[in-house]
Amino acid sequence: MNNNLFPNLLKPLDLGFTTLRNRTLMGSMHTGLEETKDGYNKMAKFFGERAKGGVGLIVTGGVAPNWEGWVKPFAGRMSNESHSKKHRVVTDAVHNEDGKICMQILHAGRYAYHPFSVSASNIKSPITPFSPRALTNSGVLSTINDYANSAYLAKMAGYDGVEIMGSEGYLINQFIVKHTNNRTDQWGGDYENRIKFPIEIVRKTREKVGKDFIIIYRLSMIDLIHDGSTWEEVVLLAKEIEKAGATIINSGIGWHEARIPTIATMVPRAAFSWVTQKLKGEINIPICTSNRINMPDVAEQVIASGHADMVSMARPFLADGFWVQKAQENRVDEINTCIACNQACLDHTFKNKLASCLVNPRACHETELEIKQSTKPKTLAVVGAGPAGLAFSTTAASRGHKVQLFEAASEIGGQFNMAKLIPGKEEFYETIRYFNKQIELTGVKLHLNTVFDNKILDNQQFDEVIIATGVVPRKLNIEGSNLPNVVSYIEALKGEKQIGKKVAVIGAGGIGFDVCEFLTHEGKSTTLDTQEWLKEWGIDPTNEVRGGIEGIKPVKPHSSREVVMLQRTKGKVGEKLGKTTGWIHRTTLKNKGVKTISGVEYIKIDGDGLHILRDKMPEIIKCDTIVVCAGQISLKELESITQAKGIKTHVIGGAFEAGELDAKKAIDQAVRLATFI
Ligand code: NAP
Ligand code: SF4
Repeated sequence: MNNNLFPNLLKPLDLGFTTLRNRTLMGSMHTGLEETKDGYNKMAKFFGERAKGGVGLIVTGGVAPNWEGWVKPFAGRMSNESHSKKHRVVTDAVHNEDGKICMQILHAGRYAYHPFSVSASNIKSPITPFSPRALTNSGVLSTINDYANSAYLAKMAGYDGVEIMGSEGYLINQFIVKHTNNRTDQWGGDYENRIKFPIEIVRKTREKVGKDFIIIYRLSMIDLIHDGSTWEEVVLLAKEIEKAGATIINSGIGWHEARIPTIATMVPRAAFSWVTQKLKGEINIPICTSNRINMPDVAEQVIASGHADMVSMARPFLADGFWVQKAQENRVDEINTCIACNQACLDHTFKNKLASCLVNPRACHETELEIKQSTKPKTLAVVGAGPAGLAFSTTAASRGHKVQLFEAASEIGGQFNMAKLIPGKEEFYETIRYFNKQIELTGVKLHLNTVFDNKILDNQQFDEVIIATGVVPRKLNIEGSNLPNVVSYIEALKGEKQIGKKVAVIGAGGIGFDVCEFLTHEGKSTTLDTQEWLKEWGIDPTNEVRGGIEGIKPVKPHSSREVVMLQRTKGKVGEKLGKTTGWIHRTTLKNKGVKTISGVEYIKIDGDGLHILRDKMPEIIKCDTIVVCAGQISLKELESITQAKGIKTHVIGGAFEAGELDAKKAIDQAVRLATFI
């Protein structure tokens, strides 16, 4: 094995009583698996595969120490022996692959989504509908015991350790910070009193589990909320947590209620590792950094430059369970990179759906989607090399089918080639790179610049044809829509038509938002420049001010274009965007001065601009260019041709369903078909 490329990342980490095989930590993520039928066996397969893939230390999703701490009713809990026994299958699966696994103990406090929530004080959170009850003194003491008991039960279940969740705004944070803790007893008042709660939790936990058991403490190093902790306070807490018996300190970045993106795709890679670095030297135990680290070169750089001893990644291991193994074997171009879209992981969790991954639909579906060699290899023609065609072709070919992939354009990627042009969506380049490599590895025969037609069908024998021809933009159907200044979003993004200084964007779906971002952006994407990005979001690059943001004004980006985005539907624009990212897109466009109008009727376009009716009153949106982002229609004419020839035909992706279709559904549909064809 040659690990020259990433010597720091792949170096073992000696914790004294045990050694981690490398510096990767699979960060905690709620998947919802434990709440599904046969959930623990599914978790075993999910984590077992990641252990087989080489992860240094796995941390499970959050498990409550008692029922009050549930994130939602009947969520995972570890408070008695019967709970403990259920986990054994998970820890065994990981140990069978020489992996190590810690259970995260998470008490949601006022973030709990049920009416029995508790907190330091009875102050409601802005992101949940329930007001918490303030814990009494004995309630605080019994909660501390519940943490320690939960850790002990985790040890009984075979876990190598626990992670105590002390960040992202959950119960422990709610004790630490003044704006959620107005107690006057020994758990409130001065900072020294407010941090007694986490210190006691770690101390009691260590007492209960003994010496040879990993205790990770996830410490909020930059709260990104007003009235958050100061840096001196963070350092003091870290030192006390070390003294209380923690083995590793992990980095927490921002509370959930913070209105600053911390993990979305527009956040620069490793944008917060400098925060972790500030703590290095202050404590003597290993320290782990996190947030938006998704490729081995970034992880290696973070450790090599002394920012941290370990790197935590959660979503990248959903996207590719064999990330570490590929890094070890210098097969980085084979990594299915997490593009930080949140569409199938966090957005699912918020909708109470099982998490998965847009680029890897097998994630959390390992037991049902097993990619096995086909017993009857077929000769397949796939038409269209967009996300659906690519995912189908490479999966089917990996099972032994003979696949020919036909693409009319000069490159693969389909709509992803549009997405990658949007500032802040640079990660889409990685998915295209991944598929190019998979085409090579699986032996898919790719025909670019090739229109699939009768001639091909007559000259070659295909057992089945898969139509993945995607979509075309929907045209506007009002007077003046054929004027030269009315352009499609594809023409706008590809620079095929000139765009003026005053623009009306018709349609406020995902693409309308993307186009507005593209049109109002000037200069380099701030996603590629951490310092500029920190300025844009009002974050102190030295983390000296309280919470990392107090008194810092965001620097609004300059745009020389005036853009108005419209939709016919009444109500808030961007309502259908992802729960975890929609607010970021809305904030970004607001900061760039993009105006939005909803509830309009389009009348006509002429030399004066776009004529609309708003509240039944005529109005003219004066503009020199109109960009149409009015959704798409399916492109599947080919189906009638193949069917007329009696060839078994499947239609997938945008060609199957354009309305509301996105890459997540397209790839999922493609992989499922390829698994069973
Ligand atoms: P979309 O989300 O369906 O939005 C289409 C927009 O066009 C709507 O705002 C709709 O609003 C308007 N529209 C529909 N028919 C129209 C017509 N005949 N005339 C005028 N306006 C019309 O489609 P999209 O924006 O093209 O996105 C396609 C898919 O890609 C979506 O599923 C989306 O999830 C995904 N995507 C997501 C993101 C993201 O989350 N950031 C980014 C890009 C793409 P009214 O009907 O109210 O006028
Ligand atoms: Fe990453 Fe998106 Fe997959 Fe989530 S759904 S793991 S953010 S690629």
